[in-house]
Amino acid sequence: MLKEIEKSIRICNKCRLCKTAINPVPGEGNPDAEIVFIGEAPGETEDQTGRPFVGRAGRLLETLLAKIGYKREDVWIGNIIKHRPPQNRDPLPDEILACQPYLTEQLKILSPKIIVTLGRFALSYFYSDGKISRDRGNLLRTGRFNVFPVYHPAAALRSPQMYRDLESDILKIPGVLDSIKKGKINTSNLNLKKGKEDLDQELDGQQRLF
Ligand code: SF4
Repeated sequence: MLKEIEKSIRICNKCRLCKTAINPVPGEGNPDAEIVFIGEAPGETEDQTGRPFVGRAGRLLETLLAKIGYKREDVWIGNIIKHRPPQNRDPLPDEILACQPYLTEQLKILSPKIIVTLGRFALSYFYSDGKISRDRGNLLRTGRFNVFPVYHPAAALRSPQMYRDLESDILKIPGVLDSIKKGKINTSNLNLKKGKEDLDQELDGQQRLF
């Protein structure tokens, strides 16, 4: 099923981004992963290779994963947007809307125990009222997902403080995962106004791909 979605992404022309990108980046990893990492959109190296998080930010993510005993093959890594926006600009609302069904379907199949969002943009995709500096390192329940926001590795490469924060948040993941498995979910924010489930419902009334 993930392969079917990948095939659809490879021929997708639902938004303008496919015209300027070199390669689509559908996402990759363990289809049975308990942990899924979601970023914003492919960058330059990802666009060139068709693989997510393979540049400097990706190497940092792999280094931090190793500290909790994971290899990148153990998790699944993807982005909200599958083609690189020109000059790494923020994706536009119509591009997000067009691309959203792919991630929705991927997450349905993957059904991860925890989604680690990388950076501000990915957090706000799952939780529209999210604030990365406030919510990072805290488990949020949005819709049907357990979301654990952390800083984007690219931001951590630019700021020693963000690097330390990212590292300490990643180190929390095994404990958070264990709590989820034992049913001891401790959501830090009880005033979630709009989670991904709401977005899915909106989408049901709009457009679906599969
Ligand atoms: S970014 Fe998403 S919606 Fe736009 S062309 Fe690529 S796969 Fe299709």
